[in-house]
Amino acid sequence: MTLDLVTIPCLSDNYAFLLHNAETAETALVDAPEAAPIAAELGRRGWRLTDILLTHHHDDHFAGVPELRAAHNPRVIGAAADAHRLPPLDLAVAEGDSVTVCGEAAVVLEVSGHTVGHIAYHFPQTGAAFTGDSLMACGCGRLFEGTPAQMWASLQKLAALPEDTLICSGHEYTASNIRFALTVDPENPDLISRARDTDAARDAGRPTVPSTLALELRTNPFLRADRPELSQMTGLTDPVQAFAEIRARKDRF
Ligand code: ZN
Ligand code: FE
Repeated sequence: MTLDLVTIPCLSDNYAFLLHNAETAETALVDAPEAAPIAAELGRRGWRLTDILLTHHHDDHFAGVPELRAAHNPRVIGAAADAHRLPPLDLAVAEGDSVTVCGEAAVVLEVSGHTVGHIAYHFPQTGAAFTGDSLMACGCGRLFEGTPAQMWASLQKLAALPEDTLICSGHEYTASNIRFALTVDPENPDLISRARDTDAARDAGRPTVPSTLALELRTNPFLRADRPELSQMTGLTDPVQAFAEIRARKDRF
């Protein structure tokens, strides 16, 4: 069994995701940037929200929770480590926990770096990982709280998932991420064609999220920091140092 996956654009560049099990009529939401577009999508499909899964404590990922909770009374799940700065949690989870959502056993991965306490949810049967602002389409989240070593370790964890995993990340930043990626990995043919595909998708008003892990492994400079092509550009061979340098260049880009 695989769950239905719906991507919902929110705010100016955020994404929320719905997972739905048609047999059990359960529906889970991953992140709640704002209530209105999510409530509208649920209404259109006649789905009732049974769970809300939160990735991290930034407002643009949970601001919609109170309104959706009032309307649907879902179970709200988030990181135990962030319970003090998230909306009230019905279930607090940590690295390695298995949690049954829409009838599927999802695995919680701790992916600190953007924030400390950021988590991702991997749905192995459906083949999707909800990565919030950790691994993003051709990018990764800015290091607001964590260290380069933490984010590198988080990205390595996600990179070890099956290659056909859908990477459901929190923002439509892909086009500008690719413009930056081309400055550190300019000859990469997969990156060059991703730039073309992304421009075409955006011109047509289509989201570029989710992507696949396979595509990220071939094109995302933050997953590729230790590759020879990239170390040639940074002059660094230590993976964490090379990652930190690429992240610092992106911050200045
Ligand atoms: Zn964030
Ligand atoms: Fe965000």
